[in-house]
Amino acid sequence: MSYLPAGDRYDSMIYRRCGRSGLDLPAIALGLWQNFGHDKSEDTQREIVLHAFDRGVTHIDLANNYGPPPGAAESFFGRLLATDLAPYRDELVISSKAGYRMWPGPYGEWGSRKYLLSSLDASLRRLGQDYVDIFYSHRDDPTTPLHETMGALKTAVDSGRALYAGISSYTAERAAQAVEVAREIGLTLLVHQPSYSMLNRWVEEGSPSALDVTAEAGMGNVVFSPLAQGMLTGRYLDGVPQDSRAARDGSLRREFLTEESIGHIRALADIAAERGQTLAQLAIVWVLRDPRVTTALVGASSVAQLDDTLAALDNLELSDEELARIDEHAVD
Ligand code: NDP
Repeated sequence: MSYLPAGDRYDSMIYRRCGRSGLDLPAIALGLWQNFGHDKSEDTQREIVLHAFDRGVTHIDLANNYGPPPGAAESFFGRLLATDLAPYRDELVISSKAGYRMWPGPYGEWGSRKYLLSSLDASLRRLGQDYVDIFYSHRDDPTTPLHETMGALKTAVDSGRALYAGISSYTAERAAQAVEVAREIGLTLLVHQPSYSMLNRWVEEGSPSALDVTAEAGMGNVVFSPLAQGMLTGRYLDGVPQDSRAARDGSLRREFLTEESIGHIRALADIAAERGQTLAQLAIVWVLRDPRVTTALVGASSVAQLDDTLAALDNLELSDEELARIDEHAVD
């Protein structure tokens, strides 16, 4: 069945400027890390992504290794870009990354020029595109000179394979160094992509913090796992459902779901309920309270989850009293 996007897709999404760039990003973006591999039905995947677009989610986040198997999420999204989404490429911001293991041998991971540029070319082949909007160094490589990693990002941009460059999961100190090197070589870093949620506040820590460094440099922050991979939703309040990430996957370990953490999550769910929101919605509102955060980058295993999350945008106000109560339970 041919796809026609919703005519009102831009009516309710909120777009926020990414740092001091000219690029607006949706306050909530969709990532295809999990649920977009060969282990899930492609019909459901298609339904989720097209629904996101119908709701104004113009930013789709990918990486070379998303699947399973690695590469599958980009190949799936490439098929969508060749069919349903073909007329709408210019309405989309598509990102990809390289940094984690993608192929065997010494050139299959980390931050060398050799790896980053061959990986980007492979991502473009899977996506069937000439360019991505944002290309990220997916993780800091402590043994490769930042001049080489930033130089590879600059080549990606100068050669037209990426419109913007970003870094992901860099500490405050390494982000500051990356910014300095990027400046030296004439590269503008658009964005940092760190993890951030009520249960994971490392980007706020230190002076300057990663949020301070990136904001000062004019970068936006697209924060991943704002729902703590599902822990900051109602999903685990009564045990571990069979079809949940904690049941099927190593990335969200059951050990995280201690009695103590469930206690905090329950308390946060109560605060959300008093606001007439779900816990997922409160978790999104909370990361977006900071203007240095451009976008909450979420995952979803169903359209219903995505709709629940998107409804966070209906009430983004948090009182000082609510913030103080949240602080008591928003602990790493
Ligand atoms: P989230 O914290 O949003 O977790 C998503 C999971 O939470 C879903 O798969 C689902 O779990 C559950 N969920 C989502 N919405 C709801 C809801 N409304 N109610 C109940 N449960 C819900 O983010 P992810 O960890 O998935 O990460 C999001 C994106 O961030 C990734 O796709 C990727 O693009 C990016 N990312 C980047 C990383 C990096 O190194 N740069 C690392 C990790 C992620 P279930 O499947 O159990 O239903």
